[in-house]
Amino acid sequence: MLRTHTCGELRLDHINQHVTLAGWVQRVRNKGGLIWVDLRDRYGVTQLIFEEGSTDKELLEKASQLGREFVVQASGKVIERTSKNDKIPTGHIEIKAESIEVLNAAKVPPFIIEDETDGGDELRMKYRYLDLRRNVVREKLQLRHRMMQETRRYMDAEQFIEVETPVLIKSTPEGARDFVVPSRVNPGEFYALPQSPQTFKQLLMVSGFDRYFQIVKCFRDEDLRADRQPEFTQIDCEMSFVDQEDILSTFEGLTKHLFKTVKGVELEEVKRMTYADAMKFYGNDKPDLRFDMKFVELNDLAKGKGFGIFDSAELVVGICAKGAAEYTRKQLDALTEWVKRPQIGAKGLVYVKYNSDGSLKSTVDKFYSSEDLSQWAEAFHAAPGDLMLVLSGEENKVRKQLSELRLKMGEELGLRDRNVFKPLWVVDFPLLEWDEETERFHAMHHPFTSPKREDIPLLETKPGAVRANAYDLVINGVEIGGGSIRIHDRPTQQLMFKHLGFTEEEAQKQFGFLMEAFEYGAPPHGGIAFGFDRLCAIFGGSDSIRDYIAFPKNNSGRDVMIDSPSSIADDQLEELSIRVQLKK
Ligand code: ASP
Repeated sequence: MLRTHTCGELRLDHINQHVTLAGWVQRVRNKGGLIWVDLRDRYGVTQLIFEEGSTDKELLEKASQLGREFVVQASGKVIERTSKNDKIPTGHIEIKAESIEVLNAAKVPPFIIEDETDGGDELRMKYRYLDLRRNVVREKLQLRHRMMQETRRYMDAEQFIEVETPVLIKSTPEGARDFVVPSRVNPGEFYALPQSPQTFKQLLMVSGFDRYFQIVKCFRDEDLRADRQPEFTQIDCEMSFVDQEDILSTFEGLTKHLFKTVKGVELEEVKRMTYADAMKFYGNDKPDLRFDMKFVELNDLAKGKGFGIFDSAELVVGICAKGAAEYTRKQLDALTEWVKRPQIGAKGLVYVKYNSDGSLKSTVDKFYSSEDLSQWAEAFHAAPGDLMLVLSGEENKVRKQLSELRLKMGEELGLRDRNVFKPLWVVDFPLLEWDEETERFHAMHHPFTSPKREDIPLLETKPGAVRANAYDLVINGVEIGGGSIRIHDRPTQQLMFKHLGFTEEEAQKQFGFLMEAFEYGAPPHGGIAFGFDRLCAIFGGSDSIRDYIAFPKNNSGRDVMIDSPSSIADDQLEELSIRVQLKK
């Protein structure tokens, strides 16, 4: 090694030892006859000192020429510092330098490599390798590393076998567009990159692997957001001879193991809620349970009193924000503007203040007597000091809008503490989802999810009401994972494809291999996949999964560091038998 110790290692115990360190120059302070250099590596920072008189002239000269981020090797004696720094573990010592070697000079970095940096997002993405030198960024990847190790440890102990599945495959429908790769040896044909290893893990169950897992890259060509990347990582799992309960308890186990080993948190029991209840009480299939603020429906109380907007609405529904009656007019106006923004799309906001003197004051006093409003307050279980917020409109829309408002109020009232973790299983998802655009049903999860046996007859009569054996793990309002018990016989799988609008030929062409496998002894099976990047972000207390990915893409799916995607050379296209003609 070019060093005897790391830059994070030396303490008072090492006094008088001769050591050699190697690392990056974090900072140089030059006081004329005295030069301090902070040397940094992954493990920490150690101070080197060069002093006129005791250090020879040439050495002092060398030190004075060091620039930020130079890579150097320095040798010297460990001495006790006269003015100690308690903020860093090496702060009680310094190295009295005896020699220094520049291993590689460096250009001035485009932003400051400190915890607080002056670099904007794009710049740091372009020089991601420099950004990764910053402690705060590297620590996120170290957290990810820990989580990976602990995942493997738990899965291995539970008898899961890690199997790699191919990346060049054909389409797996997970509800997004595929990324495709042209095949040179099969001109005009394309592979698809897996949206998930779904069909392969099911085939592994047919092969008798019984318990499979993989920490695997998945690719989905979707519109990007803070919590989405075109390529992301899943903890992907499948089990045979299980029912839903087995899967929930195994993965509750994994979640608890991770919280305990990585964060030192004893996770509470994971609650259960049906999809129907989640929508009814939170307007959302991934409710944030760090705070209550359940929806209260007011149709019975609010309609028929002459207020046209409520009378004509399909649903009048509200939430009670505890202790928020003191919101000022200005704050309430701001909330009203907020719900009226196109992103939320509400027509307006009705509020009722339950003042601390017990009086009720609303924006609709013209239509509702104080007795009426007392009845509302009762329905909301409101107490003096509370603020009731009510929206109305078409049922599905108004639930979504109120769900957003609930999260906003949770945020404003400080109820979404990043150090509190409220896990939830949402169960009994609908099997199918109506798509307005294409005017047909889509699989809500994916086409391999099994319907609840008792609901199968409804497939013919009321497909939208069929429930699936599907579940999601939600933590703090973030969908961390999802899975299902699968269909494992050909006739049911065929029936499912039929209801999804596939012709028999199409189904056979795309998924004949899977249906055929089901005819060779497929065990009952089911599984789940966790979004690993999101799980890391939750653990790290961040909203963005990007921070937990070493080399992420930006909002337009671009890697600005390597400048990809990019066009390719004509001879490469020629080899692929491809001619590019972009549509105007
Ligand atoms: N393949 C599914 C997904 O990526 C997970 C599963 O059903 O196991 O969401």
